[in-house]
Amino acid sequence: MPQFEQLSPVEICPGVWNMTPGMANSYLVVGSEHALLIDTGVGRDDYLEQIAKITDKDVSLAGTHFHGDHTGSHDLFDVFHIGAADIPLLDEKLQAKAKSYEQDAGMDDFDFGGGETAEFIPLPGHTPGSYGVLIRARKLFFTGDMICNGTIFMIEGQCDFNDFIASMDKIYSLHGNYDYLVTCHGEPNLLPAEHALRQKAVAEKFLRGELPERDGKRGGAPVPGKIYADDEGLGFFRP
Ligand SMILES: [Zn+2]
Repeated sequence: MPQFEQLSPVEICPGVWNMTPGMANSYLVVGSEHALLIDTGVGRDDYLEQIAKITDKDVSLAGTHFHGDHTGSHDLFDVFHIGAADIPLLDEKLQAKAKSYEQDAGMDDFDFGGGETAEFIPLPGHTPGSYGVLIRARKLFFTGDMICNGTIFMIEGQCDFNDFIASMDKIYSLHGNYDYLVTCHGEPNLLPAEHALRQKAVAEKFLRGELPERDGKRGGAPVPGKIYADDEGLGFFRP
């Protein structure tokens, strides 16, 4: 098996690349004039070289949230955007490069050129500053760790189940603008809007204390935490 950092980027649809396939996905979207990178996964030392093989357009980096498996190569960039509430949770080195979507009006509506834009949409729940990236022209909604066909990390002190439920409503309410939710973990990585409603129902079940606790294994290995999931494996991992 090749090392993770040696895997080649995969073009999941025209102009949209999964740069870090195999673990936490990060995505490069290449427009007619500018490109947008969404997360950097667990990181790869050759990230900039891999981008250079795909495009010579200038690349802006947009983070979905602060977790290390999504910010692994953020340090290769001079600046990146992330939700304001997640900035204090970054390590100090990355905090110095972070700008918030909320404070920087220029990132309200990213311009790829040719009339194509990306919108940054607050989706708190998994972390307080989680954001999604909606690209209407491509019918894609990148949702970071808010959507997953499996168990989502919900870490005490970072997560909020009521925010999570409200964000599921927000994601679904936008469904006329996208065909797929694009995820960072689990398979498949492209999910329909209805998945948000399923996750909402699972979160409500969890809050009622009705979501069963599972055997504490994730991917076959024991984990330091508790797993709550429905019969189809949708649910939450609580470290
Ligand atoms: Zn995460």
